[in-house]
Amino acid sequence: MNKTDKIYVAGHRGMVGSAICRALAKNGYGNVVTRTHRELDLLDPLSVREFYADEKPDVAVIAAARVGGIGANSAANAQFLYENELIALNTVWGAAEAGVKRLLFLGSTCIYPRMAPQPIPESAMLTGPLEKTNEGYALAKISGLKLCEFLRRERGLVYHSLMPTNLYGPGDNYDIVHGHVLPTLIRKFETARVNGEPLVHLWGSGSPLREFLHVDDLAAACLFVLGLENPPDLVNVGSGREVTIRQLAEMVREVTGCKAQIDWDRSKPDGTPRKLCDTRLIRSLGWEPKIRLEEGLRRTVDEYRAEVAGGTARLSCG
Ligand code: GDP
Repeated sequence: MNKTDKIYVAGHRGMVGSAICRALAKNGYGNVVTRTHRELDLLDPLSVREFYADEKPDVAVIAAARVGGIGANSAANAQFLYENELIALNTVWGAAEAGVKRLLFLGSTCIYPRMAPQPIPESAMLTGPLEKTNEGYALAKISGLKLCEFLRRERGLVYHSLMPTNLYGPGDNYDIVHGHVLPTLIRKFETARVNGEPLVHLWGSGSPLREFLHVDDLAAACLFVLGLENPPDLVNVGSGREVTIRQLAEMVREVTGCKAQIDWDRSKPDGTPRKLCDTRLIRSLGWEPKIRLEEGLRRTVDEYRAEVAGGTARLSCG
């Protein structure tokens, strides 16, 4: 990828897409093309084809998707499958038809089989049944990354995918019911601090292990793999560090300055006991994360406060 290349970032307003745009700007890539949802409906193949034909980007980064936590996904698998399938097929196929030479597709480690070995290696893809709660999302994303793989093999286009672990950072979704654990914890502890509440109610036992990656680290990883001449079809990106939900809660409590006690509501699910991706491949290629969880949390809490003060925080899904 050259500094003068025209780079299309699909999904530039989301947490991931906006981080990629920041990283591109910071690294001197000045020719970035974006479209809002209103300007370009990614569900419509003709509009997408027309867009590619007009703009003729050199590179495309596909960070657009309908996303949500376990609550949102399990309630609407049909919609998650339909929308994400169309977004994936239209953006990847449209790029190929328009002769876009390079494309990076964003997957997720939550689309590996439910019983994949831990830490999850890239080779676990499609080796077993999927997690039922987000099966629609997973099937759509798998179509996208397979389409990239087929186009690479059949047409020699360098289309490849990145599989990020749980992400957090500016612009996250802070919905209490549908959000992921890290932003939800920030909102719960911050709300308790502001209101002087004595108790914060968290879910489960606190013992499950999770891995978190700051979205700016993911954006750096995107630029890194786009810089490789012959990237792997599929590569995981994670921090490689596991914390228990209890440790995470203590960290968020400290960073927010909240004095409340934690009440663990064991009637709520723990979910899978451990979720960690195997990052040996990307590390062997020469990339590693830079933002430690402690520092990332401090930054994210500051940004959350600014988002709330500015009225831009995403406090509910939709
Ligand atoms: P997962 O990583 O796919 O399981 O999804 P989440 O990001 O929602 O993390 C869920 C883990 O965090 C489970 O072990 C929950 O029991 C725990 N947890 C504790 N408190 C909360 C909370 O307030 N919201 C959420 N989403 N998870 C919580």
